[in-house]
Amino acid sequence: MPVNPRIDDNRRLEEPAGPAFGQAFTEHLVSLEWTSARGWHDPGLRELHALDWHPATVGLHYGQAVFEGLKAYRLPDDGMGLFRPEAHGRRLQASARRLCLPVLPVDLFTAAVTRLVTADAHLLPDGPGLSLYLRPLLYAADESLALRPGRRCRFLVMAFVTEGFFGPDVRPIRVWVNERSARAVPGGTGAVKYAGNYATSYAAQEEANAQDCDQVVWLDALERRWIEELGAMNVFFVYGSGSDARLVTPPLDGNILPGITRDSVLTLADHLGYRTEQRRISVDEWRVGCGTGEITEVFATGTAAGVSPVGDVRSRTRDWTVGNGRPGPITTTLHRELRRIQRGQRRTPAWMHRV
Ligand code: PMP
Repeated sequence: MPVNPRIDDNRRLEEPAGPAFGQAFTEHLVSLEWTSARGWHDPGLRELHALDWHPATVGLHYGQAVFEGLKAYRLPDDGMGLFRPEAHGRRLQASARRLCLPVLPVDLFTAAVTRLVTADAHLLPDGPGLSLYLRPLLYAADESLALRPGRRCRFLVMAFVTEGFFGPDVRPIRVWVNERSARAVPGGTGAVKYAGNYATSYAAQEEANAQDCDQVVWLDALERRWIEELGAMNVFFVYGSGSDARLVTPPLDGNILPGITRDSVLTLADHLGYRTEQRRISVDEWRVGCGTGEITEVFATGTAAGVSPVGDVRSRTRDWTVGNGRPGPITTTLHRELRRIQRGQRRTPAWMHRV
């Protein structure tokens, strides 16, 4: 299994690894069919294969497609554990409801991802940074161009091996404040994992790349000043340090994807004795807070990269650095403790689902 063992500059979206990310697929594909007449049926596990799609497949034309991203890790006794599969299953249900797709029961979701991990666990090499990234996908499969919700849908789960890297040599990401386009609008689809959210973010990501930045800072669509997300990750601001540290993250206001890592970091921070606050924070507050030293660390959270430090910020008018531009102690602690839970080395909170 080709796995890129080093960090490189290819940290464009959420994804930390090099060329192997999303390409080195495992051997199997899990599938489940749904029709309006029969409901969920025909669970399958087959060798990974190309699908023969009719050109009128409705999910391709009208974007009726949602997905998830979760990971399975190797545990100390060589078993495998899934990180919070029920939470991912519930989020897929929320996404499906928003897109008028059928709602998959959480136990069927967990059974499907468990089935794939069981079949392909042998393809996960033993390595501290390695995990199996699972990609469940739900789309309308009708061969019809009628403009109505699919009556025949398909749920698939595929997987690939990936790495998360975090160490003394990690390069904190540089982010670009995007003042032009919006990722989400009130009443839109920002809070669900809808396929179209990602295609519409590419142009802003290209703009960030042209500014020599890794990620886009998404602002609210109305006032263009409130921070929402960071690329395909949620974002946290650390105020103060030591036992006085306070973590601030934007609230789930309908525009922000409710990240499972975000939720986990809020809970973990509580366990570790850091205060947390969910409130709006503007770009000006970020810049001024870094200038006065009140904001000491900023990090992004997501399944693929875990906890990623932010080092530098660029915008049309100003550039600034967070702290000394290096990963701070609270970012490092949260990353380490989350990693320990995922590796089965820490048992509270009990988030691992043994496969
Ligand atoms: N925001 C967006 C837009 C995302 O795509 C993701 C990745 N799923 C996240 C945040 C982080 O969510 P999670 O922690 O569940 O991976």
